[in-house]
Amino acid sequence: AKAAGRNSVRFFDPGLLEQMRARAQLEGELRRGLVQQELLLYYQPVVDGGGAIIGAEALVRWQHPVRGVVGPGEFIELAERTGLILALGDWVLQAACTRLARWAGRPGLDALVVSVNVSARQFRQPDFAARVRQALRASGARPRQLRLELTESLLLNETEETIAKMESLRAEGVGFSLDDFGTGYSSLSYLKRLPLDQIKIDRAFVRDVLGEPNDAAIVRTILALAHSLDLQVVAEGVETTSQLEFLRQHGCRAFQGYLFGRPAPAEALEQALQPAPA
Ligand code: C2E
Ligand code: CA
Ligand code: CA
Ligand code: CA
Repeated sequence: AKAAGRNSVRFFDPGLLEQMRARAQLEGELRRGLVQQELLLYYQPVVDGGGAIIGAEALVRWQHPVRGVVGPGEFIELAERTGLILALGDWVLQAACTRLARWAGRPGLDALVVSVNVSARQFRQPDFAARVRQALRASGARPRQLRLELTESLLLNETEETIAKMESLRAEGVGFSLDDFGTGYSSLSYLKRLPLDQIKIDRAFVRDVLGEPNDAAIVRTILALAHSLDLQVVAEGVETTSQLEFLRQHGCRAFQGYLFGRPAPAEALEQALQPAPA
């Protein structure tokens, strides 16, 4: 047994091998899916205090030929690890801008702001700003209606280059939002340094805002801080009217969550905002 142990290669237990195979297969399929245009964007409404739709977040889905609609939880991480996120991210930007351009001039849809999630690897490309500009120019979408959502971890090691990228797009009107606020490394000092327009309170805090005094305190603090820095705040994951009431009472004026609408194909938003003629 000792000799066998020394001479045979036993790196893989079957479970691990299986996992690697599944991952490699998923990667191949995602690569193919990108080429075959199997990705699509869902849109989730962002509403104001009165429930009026003021914007939407674009959320990627994969219309898999066999598995049906697959959520980003099952492929974004893989895309990031393999670099596929660069092609995927470009596609998302282009698709969102194309949608914005199509909405131009249509009553109810004309002024919507569309938020797009940007992954760290995508943002770090030296030509990221040029890629965003290209998506805007090719589609004819107005920069003021595009908002890019960045995460805290992406901005953690923020550099002069990060700020320069943001500033150059911002000069043209593109907005920036800090996503999942409160979950990450939350150095509050960068909030002041970075050229942000908006922060999004993570739904982990919104969820228990009525039952957990700590979460309530965090939410109140974020709202007060954001207002003193002149940042817009969106509360994510609003599911109940009591959560909404709490948030409103503490000065929040924009909301996103199942209470107002789940992510759905663009047509659903178009229908909600453009009632069929009588
Ligand atoms: P996120 O940016 O924090 O997006 C919000 C997620 O919360 C979405 O999940 C949305 O469906 C979900 N959500 C919204 N309202 C509620 C609610 O009231 N209750 C609950 N329980 N959930 C709610 P989704 O669409 O599965 O996206 C998951 C994550 O995948 C996103 O989190 C984002 O980090 C990432 N993602 C989505 N689309 C893209 C994309 O185009 N590019 C990149 N890089 N990442 C994306
Ligand atoms: Ca987001
Ligand atoms: Ca979020
Ligand atoms: Ca999140």
